[in-house]
Amino acid sequence: MELKEDMLKAFVDKCREQGLKITPQRVAVYEILLNSHTHPTVEEIYEEVKKKYPFVSLATVYRTVETLEQMGFAKRVCYWGNSVRYDANTEEHHHLICTNCGSIKDIYLEDGINLPENLEGFKPAGYSVNIYGLCPNCKN
Ligand SMILES: [Zn+2]
Ligand SMILES: [Zn+2]
Repeated sequence: MELKEDMLKAFVDKCREQGLKITPQRVAVYEILLNSHTHPTVEEIYEEVKKKYPFVSLATVYRTVETLEQMGFAKRVCYWGNSVRYDANTEEHHHLICTNCGSIKDIYLEDGINLPENLEGFKPAGYSVNIYGLCPNCKN
């Protein structure tokens, strides 16, 4: 993964390019997501931003996360629960998802997986694997 400072700078540059206002709150949203390894929800990011910027609104955090997603700085992690979780790690990687506590951990599959030969004419550009089960804490 690239340096966090570089990623933050890239985000600020891109906002400037697109004529979007750069506020410290917006930058804080991305910084929190970059530093988080838990794949937080927007609400969880909001709680963190609020510690530093008590007057930030949930709507601002939502919009910023959406912008980050559109710009390719964040990805949605598919999850069947009622909350969408976000990931600032946009490298190809996969997830270990605990169905008991909802923890999501990154995993890299060195050799990848074997995609089936027959994809019904579909041209794959990438894939992401979610492995569901119990994390070490919940297993016991
Ligand atoms: Zn668990
Ligand atoms: Zn991830």
